[in-house]
Amino acid sequence: MRLSERGAIRSAIAEGGLGLFPAGRLMEMIKAGNPGDELKGDFDPQATVEKLRGARGPEGGAAKAVFDRDIGILAERLGLMPANYDIEAAFDMMLTVAPELAKRYYGVENFEAPRPKVVEYFFEGFSDVYKDGDWFAFNVNSAESAEMNVPVGTYFKRDQVSPGLPEFSAMHEANHAMQEAASLPDGFNHYLPWFDEGLADAFGRMMLYRTMKDEALMGKLRRFRTEVESLDPRKATYHFGEETASLLLLRGRLPFAKALMRARRREPFSVDWSTMGGLIKEGVDPHVAVLKSYVGSKQAAFQKKLDRDEKAFRKGPDLDASDLRALTMFLASERPACLPPEEYAAALWLASEAAKAPDPEQAFKISIAESDVPAEHKNGAAKLASIYFITKREEEGRIVYSPYGGGLPYRLGSGEIRCTY
Ligand SMILES: [Zn+2]
Repeated sequence: MRLSERGAIRSAIAEGGLGLFPAGRLMEMIKAGNPGDELKGDFDPQATVEKLRGARGPEGGAAKAVFDRDIGILAERLGLMPANYDIEAAFDMMLTVAPELAKRYYGVENFEAPRPKVVEYFFEGFSDVYKDGDWFAFNVNSAESAEMNVPVGTYFKRDQVSPGLPEFSAMHEANHAMQEAASLPDGFNHYLPWFDEGLADAFGRMMLYRTMKDEALMGKLRRFRTEVESLDPRKATYHFGEETASLLLLRGRLPFAKALMRARRREPFSVDWSTMGGLIKEGVDPHVAVLKSYVGSKQAAFQKKLDRDEKAFRKGPDLDASDLRALTMFLASERPACLPPEEYAAALWLASEAAKAPDPEQAFKISIAESDVPAEHKNGAAKLASIYFITKREEEGRIVYSPYGGGLPYRLGSGEIRCTY
């Protein structure tokens, strides 16, 4: 499958290591330098790198220096990226493991996932009603199939594909098909974003990690989430819901989540699901939250069935170490400190000076005279000292800075300092 330019650029962004936070904003700057181009055309390493070189960023000073560095990193990655991507391999992987995963996470037997189709637009060949839809992928369930006149199945939009994402998205969309079997009421489209998307994201990541154990891929997915998708309001609601669903799983555990799905299938309107999600987010135990959100007339009977189902599901699997790893990986998404360009550029310079020392012990002890700091970094260095990201002291009548004193290279290396421009 041929990648699109935006798919390739986002993939390069999600490799990390850029100054700007969130780095997904670079997409807007590249578009601004190529007016009218939405970057949906085919990716060609040379031609796309040319477009990057024309990106419109900050005009001068430290911001320009950091921006130029970011664009340089992306250009190098894109220059080496193959223009074709084997999305079918991601589908094969999902189809192989889906039956076993449906059993483990949803209690669904004999599950068969539909093989995803790659389309140019939604829903090419069937209906043009959602031709403008710009989602990454879409799972059409039975109720939606009847409403939209599109066959049941999973559809991927080709120009949205970024290497690394389909592996996860194929799992996410398969979760929706599993949900149809386990938690959706029959006959109408009952869509509950925090529950459906939240669990599809949370379980999808657990399933992917269990299947592939690929740490680099999980890291890339995390950066897609924090750097690129956080800028999209629709995806940001998914992340909010994913956190709620993750808290449901961490506090309530898997047997309770399965029992809750069954209760929803039975009585979708007996629970005020928004209130329940809000209570979980606030810290309430999900067993308590569901009862506090009960709006039907037979609470005792509802609770009895829920307890009975949970007890039965306890005979099956619960979350294990692999699940908890994957789940908590995506809860750890605290935003980094975003320094102004002048300070960030000075931080990069100070760290690069320290890195010139031949061994770590010498780098650790290095001090730089204030008078040796280049003019363009003097203000930035002084500000970094004022917030104790570097230390300063008087030595033989002159002021010196120690980059490691305030832990600056560690702050940069761990990604906890980034830049806004
Ligand atoms: Zn979804």
